[in-house]
Amino acid sequence: MIPQESKIIAVDFDGTIAEDRYPGIGKPMPFAFETLKMLQGDGHRLILWTYRTGKKLNEAVEFCREHGIEFYAVNKGFPEEDMQHPDTGRKIHADLFIDDRNFGGFPGWGVIYQKLSPENRKIELEEKQKRRRGFFGRRR
Ligand SMILES: [Mg+2]
Repeated sequence: MIPQESKIIAVDFDGTIAEDRYPGIGKPMPFAFETLKMLQGDGHRLILWTYRTGKKLNEAVEFCREHGIEFYAVNKGFPEEDMQHPDTGRKIHADLFIDDRNFGGFPGWGVIYQKLSPENRKIELEEKQKRRRGFFGRRR
């Protein structure tokens, strides 16, 4: 059984979930919603982390809802976080950020899906255990 560590994953909207047509909304990026659903199914919490506010933000949230994605939080780290409070930092806490402006460029959802899919993580874990066994084997 794979240990289920639930991650908080912040996801950008324009250019990441949908093609960048800001202030409009582009077509979904290939495999974006498939990957987001897989991640939610795996127990990860998704945050929509976008420049959009107000009506433009609501349109993005509705677009995702129509494609079957409901976010854990929108433009905040957790549902109750008060971003206006003076003690609240502007940067949210997340374990992972998925954004088309990442250093190194956007790898595409196909690559992200493969990297984060349970099957791939299982293989990684098995390799790690193999290496560990090898390490202790050498010490004896
Ligand atoms: Mg973007």
